[in-house]
Amino acid sequence: MDNRSSNFLRNIIADDVNAGKVKEVVTRFPPEPNGYLHIGHAKSICLNFDLADEFKGKTNLRFDDTNPSKEDIEYVESIKEDVLWLGYRWDNLFYASDYFEAMYDRAVLLINKGLAYVCDLPAEQIRLTRGTLTKPGQESPYRNREVSTNLQLFAKMRAGEFKDGEKVLRAKIDMTSPNINLRDPILYRIAHASHHNTGDAWCIYPMYDYAHPIEDALEGVTHSICTLEFEDHRPLYDWVIRACEMEHTPRQYEFARLNLTNTVMSKRKLKQLVEEHVVDGWDDPRMPTISGLRRRGYTPEAIRAFAREIGVAKSDSIVDAKMLEHFIREDLKLKAPRTMGVLSPLKVVITNYPEEQVEMLEAEINPENPAMGNRQIPFSREIYIEQDDFMEDPPAKYFRLFPGNEVRLKHAYFIKCNDVFKDEQGNIKEIHCTYDPETKSGSGFTGRKVKGTIHWVDAGKARPAEFRLYSDLIVQDEEDEKSFLENVNPGSLEILQGFIEPNLHNVGPHDKFQFFRHGYFNVDPKYTNQEKVVFNQIVSLKSSFEIKK
Ligand code: ATP
Ligand code: MG
Repeated sequence: MDNRSSNFLRNIIADDVNAGKVKEVVTRFPPEPNGYLHIGHAKSICLNFDLADEFKGKTNLRFDDTNPSKEDIEYVESIKEDVLWLGYRWDNLFYASDYFEAMYDRAVLLINKGLAYVCDLPAEQIRLTRGTLTKPGQESPYRNREVSTNLQLFAKMRAGEFKDGEKVLRAKIDMTSPNINLRDPILYRIAHASHHNTGDAWCIYPMYDYAHPIEDALEGVTHSICTLEFEDHRPLYDWVIRACEMEHTPRQYEFARLNLTNTVMSKRKLKQLVEEHVVDGWDDPRMPTISGLRRRGYTPEAIRAFAREIGVAKSDSIVDAKMLEHFIREDLKLKAPRTMGVLSPLKVVITNYPEEQVEMLEAEINPENPAMGNRQIPFSREIYIEQDDFMEDPPAKYFRLFPGNEVRLKHAYFIKCNDVFKDEQGNIKEIHCTYDPETKSGSGFTGRKVKGTIHWVDAGKARPAEFRLYSDLIVQDEEDEKSFLENVNPGSLEILQGFIEPNLHNVGPHDKFQFFRHGYFNVDPKYTNQEKVVFNQIVSLKSSFEIKK
């Protein structure tokens, strides 16, 4: 049974296949290598690969590298890594820049057909003469140049005889078209910039609206899926295919881009966060990038399940980030070992427990998945508990430790607090308790009940660890374009030095655990080393989020 929710794109493809219009479905994921991929791209990746897969078709990974000044090989490599990590294998790897010669030839064809001309207007002037939704555009004085002049000038553009911005190649369509994209759009611009793939071979580069349809057609793409902002560009897409006499006719379809609450989802802004050192690189665990989510501890399974659940829509909306959290909890519930970690330690001395004695307590590694077996937890006279789990002067309904109160230590005994010790500044240094040997966990003790259960680690045997807790990167969604940096949450990272159970063997990068009462954590690959283990909190345990059935 296929649990993927139905979507309108699948219906379109199914109709095309059933009607015999399409023999083999070919999709593509076409990132521009000008930044790292984010969760919005993951939606597009899942969509393109899953749809092709469903119809036994093919998916290409194509780098849309037509804008050399912003692109870099670092991004190319990171994109490949992220797509593979998500669990997808492309059928072909292409670079738009491999088609530069073919694109140039088609541009010459357009000139020969009287469908393109070299225009000398500066960019600003072209913008001003484009008109508005209510006002038609004005024709360029260069619009009616002779074909031979255009051919000569275009060749000179390619040969590097003009400076950036001095000339462009424009399509000759209709300056009065109600669709502004059809008012003689720019096809080529001059940019004397080195390209990561073609080096200095070119100094003219095709515009997206010209390049994309040609790329799709040359690759035999059948369904070219893009985000909604390109809906108004579709007539131009079809015009390019027709006018350039492409043998293959791809079709463009649009779907709503993914937006998430409390974050930003544009490479330009993410890049700004990286460059201004607001975050610790593209893979900072607070970033919505695929590499950030990976470092945070998200799994490909969770991201794919999320992408399938949100499905595809025809109108933009913001998805609650809690939904993404829901899927990582679901994925890790049975997989992650359960353990105890104390993030902000407070020493507890159990005064009636024999000095020098250490006993091993037994607990299941994951009660929801008994196949994972058991673990041994050392217990002795000195332990650490969470500072928050003790209050000298508690409010009503505080059921954890306070003087005179008794609580259960998870997997161990009841302890009762008798004494509080403070330093000269009045800070609580340690507390003294007594334990009741009768109350050992699993012994069937029913003598009395306690209201609170707290976690702990053995002070002598516990391993030190660093815990990194994250909250939303952006505090407001209603961001004003210019100042989104002002909406960055200054408290989005909290670093704590604590302890973990000593039985976590071979803790290595990307190992995932559920810490009792604290939620799911991932071993950070960047800061973990021989001396210390650093955990990133993936998500807390509780959530009010539920998927509506
Ligand atoms: P950004 O605006 O974040 O820079 P982009 O659209 O410029 O993104 P591209 O590299 O051009 O990034 O995108 C590659 C593919 O991913 C495109 O097909 C694009 O439609 C899709 N995509 C980008 N962002 C999203 C998103 N938020 N939701 C869904 N698909 C997206
Ligand atoms: Mg883009």
